[in-house]
Amino acid sequence: MLDVVIIGTGFGGISAAINLNKAHITNYVMLERRSFAGGTWKQNRYPGAAVDVYSILYSLENETYDWSRMFATQSELAEYTNHLIQKHRLNDKIQLNVNVTSTKWQNDHWLISTEDGAYFCAKTVINATGPLSTPVTPKIKGLEFFKGESFHANDWPDNVDFKNKKIAVIGSGASAVQIIPELAKCAETLHVFQRTPHWILYRPDFTFPAWLRKLLKINSINKLFRMLIYWQLELRVIAFKYSKLLLKLVGEYPARLQLKMQVPDFNLRKKLVPDFIIGCKRILITNSYLPALQKKNVVLHDKTEAINAFTENGIETSTSTIDVDIVVFATGYDPQASIVSHHIVGRHGVSLDTQWQAFPRAYLGTSMPSFPNFFVVTGPNTGIGHTSAIHIIESQMRYIMSCITLLRDDVSTIEPTEHAEDTYTKMIHREMQKTVWHYGGCTSWYQNASGKVIAMFPGFSFSFRRLCEKFKRDDHHIT
Ligand SMILES: Cc1cc2nc3c(=O)[nH]c(=O)nc-3n(C[C@H](O)[C@H](O)[C@H](O)COP(=O)(O)OP(=O)(O)OC[C@H]3O[C@@H](n4cnc5c(N)ncnc54)[C@H](O)[C@@H]3O)c2cc1C
Repeated sequence: MLDVVIIGTGFGGISAAINLNKAHITNYVMLERRSFAGGTWKQNRYPGAAVDVYSILYSLENETYDWSRMFATQSELAEYTNHLIQKHRLNDKIQLNVNVTSTKWQNDHWLISTEDGAYFCAKTVINATGPLSTPVTPKIKGLEFFKGESFHANDWPDNVDFKNKKIAVIGSGASAVQIIPELAKCAETLHVFQRTPHWILYRPDFTFPAWLRKLLKINSINKLFRMLIYWQLELRVIAFKYSKLLLKLVGEYPARLQLKMQVPDFNLRKKLVPDFIIGCKRILITNSYLPALQKKNVVLHDKTEAINAFTENGIETSTSTIDVDIVVFATGYDPQASIVSHHIVGRHGVSLDTQWQAFPRAYLGTSMPSFPNFFVVTGPNTGIGHTSAIHIIESQMRYIMSCITLLRDDVSTIEPTEHAEDTYTKMIHREMQKTVWHYGGCTSWYQNASGKVIAMFPGFSFSFRRLCEKFKRDDHHIT
């Protein structure tokens, strides 16, 4: 029997493996459904893909990297991922093309079953299947008859030539605003279908000059730089949660100014002003999207020209029929389906789907009553709109490793008490009422179908870290 099975090989899985290695726990495997390891940044190869958080903070704390720019692009993030896998010799632990289909508690261990009929037994499961790894493609009438190419941004094909093609991008969120400027460079015509305009802020991106890269190789300077960025970003929580005035000053006004400066045409600008409070949906950080929309070959279709159906040769909108060769769905992800992408059954046959029927919930966003020795990385309400997801992952690791350290000794099982989980969840949703994600007047992927904010942690990331660091024995059933 294995000590631990890690499901997923993104930064969540990698961070878990590094922590296990550090604790000299080596009897574990990492299962990955894809043919390659690495998660988000190996998978999302669409043109323009890049991180929205300063690279220096979007790195594991003790794994600094010689980043070439402020906001790393996909290829560099994929290299960083490979670097971590190689440095920590994780290839020996990773099993590719293993799609976990169910995880069932068997009195004293987990039985992990896979699509191809194999199974693993482990005392502990670390589920790191990613918050945004299950793409959503809207069901639009007639798509099956469309003769051209169509795919989700998450599944970018290698063999499609975009040059001089008629392309439609459906969506105007975080991936779309990165893809559109790139496709606008080569498309004959690019149709952008925008259901909702988003708030956009300036991206302070630049290539690091050689002297800065040299300086950042000095550990203490790297740490200082990282710390300054961290605290500057942390201040955003004051705006998101505590001060509507500050939100206007540092969010809405600069966004309106950028829109005015980048889009002189009043009529186009009108289509691009969101009708919700800034921050309610993820703020987009880009300098190239608004200029791209004004290129001669780009047409913006807002909700007054919504898609009715696909035809063999293109798209029928509420006002016209458009010929298209290629359709890109930049339509996001299903966070609830991603959190745990397979069937999980805990003690007494309780399924996680049933336990989460109303909404996903977990103690510290990580562990659930009736699911002993089971930990969810980037679980419910661990998302963060203002800083690096990796900071959150590393906070969760502190809690997970406290539990795993106990399990290594003479403890058989550990799980949060129902009372502790309930108290934590009530606190999360009470605090959530104060945030712009709750009151901002939008629908977003931060919410589930009933409108409950299930993705975000309603506070400072250092508060979350403090909670994860202080292991509370009384909050757990330990046998
Ligand atoms: C396009 C995009 C841009 C993003 N930009 C940012 C950003 O700017 N800043 C930020 O902080 N965060 C960003 N994120 C969020 C990002 O998901 C996290 O930052 C982080 O990479 C999550 O790591 P992870 O390991 O939890 O998940 P992932 O990287 O998604 O890894 C999960 C892995 O689990 C595997 N898996 C899933 N289900 C199974 C199964 N049943 N069996 C076996 N394997 C399975 C998947 O194949 C995948 O490899 C972005 C996400 C996307 C998709």
